[in-house]
Amino acid sequence: MPHHDEIMSTLGLAPTWRRRERMGLGVDAAIAVREPALVRDAGPLHHSAAARANTPEDDGARIVRIARLDWAGFAPDVDSCVACGLARTRKKSVPGVGDVRAEWLFVGEAPGAEEDARGEPFVGQAGKLLDNMLAALGMKRGENVYIANVLKCRPPNNRAPEPREVDACRPYLDRQIALIRPKVIVALGKSAATTLLDVEATIASLRGRVHRYAGVPLVVTYHPAYLLRNLPDKQKAWEDLLFARRTLRHGAVATASAEAT
Ligand code: URA
Repeated sequence: MPHHDEIMSTLGLAPTWRRRERMGLGVDAAIAVREPALVRDAGPLHHSAAARANTPEDDGARIVRIARLDWAGFAPDVDSCVACGLARTRKKSVPGVGDVRAEWLFVGEAPGAEEDARGEPFVGQAGKLLDNMLAALGMKRGENVYIANVLKCRPPNNRAPEPREVDACRPYLDRQIALIRPKVIVALGKSAATTLLDVEATIASLRGRVHRYAGVPLVVTYHPAYLLRNLPDKQKAWEDLLFARRTLRHGAVATASAEAT
Protein backbone atom coordinates (compact mmCIF):
# COMPACT_ATOMS: atom_id res chain seq x y z
CA MET A 1 0.00 0.00 0.00
CA PRO A 2 1.56 3.37 -0.96
CA HIS A 3 2.54 5.64 1.91
CA HIS A 4 0.33 8.65 2.58
CA ASP A 5 3.07 11.16 1.64
CA GLU A 6 3.73 9.28 -1.58
CA ILE A 7 0.05 9.54 -2.52
CA MET A 8 0.04 13.21 -1.68
CA SER A 9 3.03 13.92 -3.85
CA THR A 10 1.77 11.69 -6.65
CA LEU A 11 -1.47 13.58 -6.66
CA GLY A 12 0.36 16.91 -6.54
CA LEU A 13 -1.87 18.14 -3.74
CA ALA A 14 -1.43 21.55 -2.22
CA PRO A 15 -2.76 21.42 1.34
CA THR A 16 -3.69 25.08 1.04
CA TRP A 17 -6.48 24.31 -1.46
CA ARG A 18 -9.81 25.21 -0.01
CA ARG A 19 -13.19 25.19 -1.61
CA ARG A 20 -16.75 25.55 -0.54
CA GLU A 21 -18.23 22.20 0.28
CA ARG A 22 -21.62 21.02 -0.67
CA MET A 23 -21.15 17.47 0.38
CA GLY A 24 -22.41 15.96 3.57
CA LEU A 25 -25.86 17.29 2.88
CA GLY A 26 -28.09 14.29 2.66
CA VAL A 27 -30.42 13.80 -0.22
CA ASP A 28 -33.77 12.21 0.21
CA ALA A 29 -33.09 9.45 -2.21
CA ALA A 30 -36.71 8.49 -2.71
CA ILE A 31 -36.81 8.05 -6.44
CA ALA A 32 -39.37 6.94 -8.88
CA VAL A 33 -37.27 4.70 -11.05
CA ARG A 34 -35.02 2.32 -9.14
CA GLU A 35 -33.61 0.04 -11.78
CA PRO A 36 -34.39 1.72 -15.03
CA ALA A 37 -34.77 -0.19 -18.22
CA LEU A 38 -31.80 0.87 -20.24
CA VAL A 39 -32.49 1.21 -23.92
CA ARG A 40 -29.36 0.90 -25.99
CA ASP A 41 -30.35 -0.17 -29.43
CA ALA A 42 -33.71 1.45 -29.84
CA GLY A 43 -32.31 3.94 -32.33
CA PRO A 44 -32.31 7.71 -32.18
CA LEU A 45 -35.43 9.74 -31.77
CA HIS A 46 -35.01 13.51 -31.80
CA HIS A 47 -37.58 16.11 -31.01
CA SER A 48 -36.62 19.72 -31.35
CA ALA A 49 -37.01 21.94 -28.31
CA ALA A 50 -39.48 24.06 -30.24
CA ALA A 51 -41.60 21.09 -31.18
CA ARG A 52 -41.62 19.89 -27.60
CA ALA A 53 -42.44 23.34 -26.26
CA ASN A 54 -45.75 23.21 -28.12
CA THR A 55 -46.61 19.72 -27.01
CA PRO A 56 -46.69 18.94 -23.30
CA GLU A 57 -44.83 15.70 -22.75
CA ASP A 58 -45.78 13.36 -19.94
CA ASP A 59 -43.09 11.79 -17.75
CA GLY A 60 -43.35 8.37 -19.34
CA ALA A 61 -43.03 9.69 -22.88
CA ARG A 62 -40.09 11.84 -21.79
CA ILE A 63 -38.27 8.87 -20.24
CA VAL A 64 -38.79 6.80 -23.38
CA ARG A 65 -37.65 9.66 -25.63
CA ILE A 66 -34.48 10.23 -23.58
CA ALA A 67 -33.80 6.49 -23.51
CA ARG A 68 -33.66 6.61 -27.32
CA LEU A 69 -31.29 9.54 -27.68
CA ASP A 70 -28.00 8.99 -29.48
CA TRP A 71 -24.88 11.03 -28.68
CA ALA A 72 -25.67 13.58 -31.36
CA GLY A 73 -29.00 14.29 -29.74
CA PHE A 74 -27.93 13.95 -26.13
CA ALA A 75 -26.26 17.28 -25.27
CA PRO A 76 -28.78 19.41 -27.21
CA ASP A 77 -31.60 17.62 -25.42
CA VAL A 78 -30.04 18.28 -22.01
CA ASP A 79 -29.51 21.88 -23.02
CA SER A 80 -33.15 22.37 -23.94
CA CYS A 81 -34.51 20.54 -20.89
CA VAL A 82 -36.82 22.53 -18.62
CA ALA A 83 -38.13 19.60 -16.61
CA CYS A 84 -37.02 20.74 -13.15
CA GLY A 85 -36.58 24.48 -13.41
CA LEU A 86 -32.80 24.62 -12.86
CA ALA A 87 -32.41 25.77 -16.46
CA ARG A 88 -33.81 29.12 -15.34
CA THR A 89 -30.89 29.86 -13.04
CA ARG A 90 -27.96 28.03 -14.61
CA LYS A 91 -25.64 29.54 -17.21
CA LYS A 92 -24.66 26.42 -19.18
CA SER A 93 -25.90 22.89 -19.00
CA VAL A 94 -23.18 20.36 -18.13
CA PRO A 95 -24.08 17.10 -19.87
CA GLY A 96 -20.78 15.29 -19.28
CA VAL A 97 -17.39 14.89 -20.88
CA GLY A 98 -15.11 12.14 -22.06
CA ASP A 99 -14.66 8.98 -24.01
CA VAL A 100 -18.05 7.64 -25.04
CA ARG A 101 -16.59 4.12 -25.00
CA ALA A 102 -14.97 4.53 -21.60
CA GLU A 103 -14.61 1.65 -19.17
CA TRP A 104 -14.62 4.17 -16.28
CA LEU A 105 -17.54 6.41 -15.44
CA PHE A 106 -17.10 8.94 -12.62
CA VAL A 107 -20.32 10.46 -11.30
CA GLY A 108 -20.40 13.58 -9.13
CA GLU A 109 -23.28 15.49 -7.65
CA ALA A 110 -23.94 18.60 -9.74
CA PRO A 111 -22.04 21.37 -11.52
CA GLY A 112 -20.59 24.18 -9.42
CA ALA A 113 -19.92 27.75 -10.50
CA GLU A 114 -16.93 27.00 -12.74
CA GLU A 115 -18.62 24.05 -14.37
CA ASP A 116 -21.72 26.18 -14.91
CA ALA A 117 -19.62 28.83 -16.62
CA ARG A 118 -17.76 26.36 -18.86
CA GLY A 119 -20.31 23.65 -19.48
CA GLU A 120 -17.89 20.90 -18.40
CA PRO A 121 -17.92 18.83 -15.20
CA PHE A 122 -15.16 18.99 -12.60
CA VAL A 123 -13.12 21.88 -13.96
CA GLY A 124 -12.60 23.72 -10.63
CA GLN A 125 -10.23 22.83 -7.80
CA ALA A 126 -12.06 19.60 -7.09
CA GLY A 127 -11.71 18.74 -10.76
CA LYS A 128 -7.95 19.36 -10.62
CA LEU A 129 -7.75 16.88 -7.80
CA LEU A 130 -9.85 14.40 -9.77
CA ASP A 131 -7.50 14.84 -12.75
CA ASN A 132 -4.51 14.22 -10.46
CA MET A 133 -6.13 11.10 -9.07
CA LEU A 134 -6.72 9.88 -12.62
CA ALA A 135 -3.10 10.65 -13.47
CA ALA A 136 -1.96 8.64 -10.46
CA LEU A 137 -3.81 5.69 -12.00
CA GLY A 138 -2.14 6.36 -15.35
CA MET A 139 -5.36 7.72 -16.83
CA LYS A 140 -6.65 11.01 -18.02
CA ARG A 141 -9.91 12.78 -18.66
CA GLY A 142 -11.27 11.82 -22.04
CA GLU A 143 -9.25 8.62 -22.47
CA ASN A 144 -11.17 5.58 -21.30
CA VAL A 145 -12.83 7.90 -18.77
CA TYR A 146 -16.19 9.64 -18.85
CA ILE A 147 -17.18 12.19 -16.21
CA ALA A 148 -20.77 13.14 -15.45
CA ASN A 149 -22.94 14.40 -12.65
CA VAL A 150 -26.27 13.29 -11.24
CA LEU A 151 -27.61 16.75 -12.12
CA LYS A 152 -26.75 18.37 -15.42
CA CYS A 153 -27.54 21.91 -14.24
CA ARG A 154 -26.14 23.87 -11.34
CA PRO A 155 -28.43 24.27 -8.33
CA PRO A 156 -28.47 27.92 -7.18
CA ASN A 157 -25.71 28.68 -4.67
CA ASN A 158 -24.55 25.07 -4.92
CA ARG A 159 -27.36 23.87 -2.71
CA ALA A 160 -27.94 20.14 -2.50
CA PRO A 161 -30.02 18.66 -5.32
CA GLU A 162 -33.68 18.25 -4.53
CA PRO A 163 -35.25 14.81 -5.03
CA ARG A 164 -37.53 16.07 -7.79
CA GLU A 165 -34.48 17.47 -9.64
CA VAL A 166 -32.70 14.15 -9.29
CA ASP A 167 -35.76 12.33 -10.57
CA ALA A 168 -36.07 14.67 -13.54
CA CYS A 169 -32.38 14.34 -14.47
CA ARG A 170 -31.99 10.61 -13.84
CA PRO A 171 -33.10 9.54 -17.35
CA TYR A 172 -30.10 11.43 -18.74
CA LEU A 173 -27.61 9.64 -16.52
CA ASP A 174 -29.30 6.35 -17.30
CA ARG A 175 -29.02 7.06 -21.00
CA GLN A 176 -25.33 7.93 -20.65
CA ILE A 177 -24.73 4.63 -18.87
CA ALA A 178 -26.64 2.72 -21.53
CA LEU A 179 -24.66 4.38 -24.32
CA ILE A 180 -21.25 4.14 -22.67
CA ARG A 181 -21.64 0.74 -21.03
CA PRO A 182 -18.84 1.37 -18.54
CA LYS A 183 -17.19 -1.51 -16.71
CA VAL A 184 -17.18 0.40 -13.45
CA ILE A 185 -18.95 3.44 -12.05
CA VAL A 186 -17.22 5.47 -9.35
CA ALA A 187 -19.69 7.47 -7.27
CA LEU A 188 -17.93 10.57 -6.01
CA GLY A 189 -19.25 11.56 -2.61
CA LYS A 190 -22.22 10.92 -0.40
CA SER A 191 -24.74 12.72 -2.54
CA ALA A 192 -23.95 10.80 -5.73
CA ALA A 193 -23.66 7.50 -3.87
CA THR A 194 -26.87 7.76 -1.86
CA THR A 195 -28.77 9.09 -4.84
CA LEU A 196 -27.62 6.35 -7.18
CA LEU A 197 -27.99 3.56 -4.64
CA ASP A 198 -31.22 4.90 -3.18
CA VAL A 199 -30.04 4.48 0.39
CA GLU A 200 -29.44 6.84 3.27
CA ALA A 201 -25.98 5.83 4.45
CA THR A 202 -22.54 7.19 5.22
CA ILE A 203 -19.68 7.04 2.76
CA ALA A 204 -17.78 4.99 5.34
CA SER A 205 -20.45 2.30 5.28
CA LEU A 206 -20.68 2.24 1.48
CA ARG A 207 -16.93 2.13 0.71
CA GLY A 208 -15.05 -1.09 0.07
CA ARG A 209 -17.99 -2.96 -1.43
CA VAL A 210 -19.11 -3.47 -5.00
CA HIS A 211 -22.61 -2.10 -5.47
CA ARG A 212 -24.54 -2.04 -8.73
CA TYR A 213 -26.34 0.64 -10.64
CA ALA A 214 -28.28 -0.33 -13.75
CA GLY A 215 -26.37 -3.62 -13.67
CA VAL A 216 -22.94 -1.95 -13.69
CA PRO A 217 -20.52 -2.48 -10.76
CA LEU A 218 -20.36 0.71 -8.70
CA VAL A 219 -17.71 1.71 -6.18
CA VAL A 220 -18.12 4.57 -3.74
CA THR A 221 -15.45 7.04 -2.73
CA TYR A 222 -15.13 10.51 -1.25
CA HIS A 223 -15.95 13.60 -3.26
CA PRO A 224 -12.78 15.43 -4.39
CA ALA A 225 -14.07 18.68 -2.83
CA TYR A 226 -14.35 16.89 0.50
CA LEU A 227 -10.84 15.51 0.08
CA LEU A 228 -9.49 19.02 -0.40
CA ARG A 229 -10.54 19.75 3.16
CA ASN A 230 -9.86 16.37 4.73
CA LEU A 231 -6.33 15.37 3.86
CA PRO A 232 -6.20 12.09 5.80
CA ASP A 233 -9.05 10.67 3.74
CA LYS A 234 -7.03 10.97 0.53
CA GLN A 235 -5.32 7.73 1.42
CA LYS A 236 -8.72 6.07 1.66
CA ALA A 237 -9.80 7.58 -1.66
CA TRP A 238 -6.66 6.19 -3.28
CA GLU A 239 -7.50 2.75 -1.89
CA ASP A 240 -11.02 3.14 -3.29
CA LEU A 241 -9.67 3.89 -6.75
CA LEU A 242 -7.39 0.88 -6.63
CA PHE A 243 -10.41 -1.16 -5.55
CA ALA A 244 -12.38 0.25 -8.47
CA ARG A 245 -9.56 -0.75 -10.82
CA ARG A 246 -9.55 -4.27 -9.44
CA THR A 247 -13.32 -4.35 -9.85
CA LEU A 248 -12.95 -3.28 -13.46
CA ARG A 249 -10.31 -5.93 -14.12
CA HIS A 250 -11.81 -8.78 -12.18
CA GLY A 251 -15.50 -7.94 -12.02
CA ALA A 252 -17.58 -7.73 -8.86
CA VAL A 253 -15.48 -10.43 -7.16
CA ALA A 254 -12.74 -7.91 -6.31
CA THR A 255 -12.21 -7.46 -2.59
CA ALA A 256 -11.35 -4.23 -0.85
CA SER A 257 -8.41 -5.79 0.96
CA ALA A 258 -6.65 -7.31 -2.07
CA GLU A 259 -3.14 -6.24 -3.03
CA ALA A 260 -2.94 -2.86 -4.73
CA THR A 261 -2.65 -3.69 -8.41
N1 URA B 1 -18.75 18.94 -7.87
C1 URA B 1 -19.49 18.01 -8.51
O1 URA B 1 -20.11 17.15 -7.87
N2 URA B 1 -19.51 18.04 -9.84
C2 URA B 1 -18.84 18.93 -10.56
O2 URA B 1 -18.92 18.88 -11.78
C3 URA B 1 -18.08 19.88 -9.87
C4 URA B 1 -18.04 19.87 -8.53
